[in-house]
Amino acid sequence: MPLVKITLWGYRCLRCGHQWVPRGIEVAEDGKKPPEPDDEPRVCPRCKSPYWNKPRKA
Ligand SMILES: [Zn+2]
Repeated sequence: MPLVKITLWGYRCLRCGHQWVPRGIEVAEDGKKPPEPDDEPRVCPRCKSPYWNKPRKA
């Protein structure tokens, strides 16, 4: 089995940098971005911050 390049789409927490792939997101075989899920995760699964997708303002 040769190596294949896999591309994952997921979320990145802007607070702790954790990256994860939510359920329902499949590997993009053609490199295209899959459709956005209907509902974004409420909290980061690592730091539990509800502001994981909101950049911290100075
Ligand atoms: Zn986080």
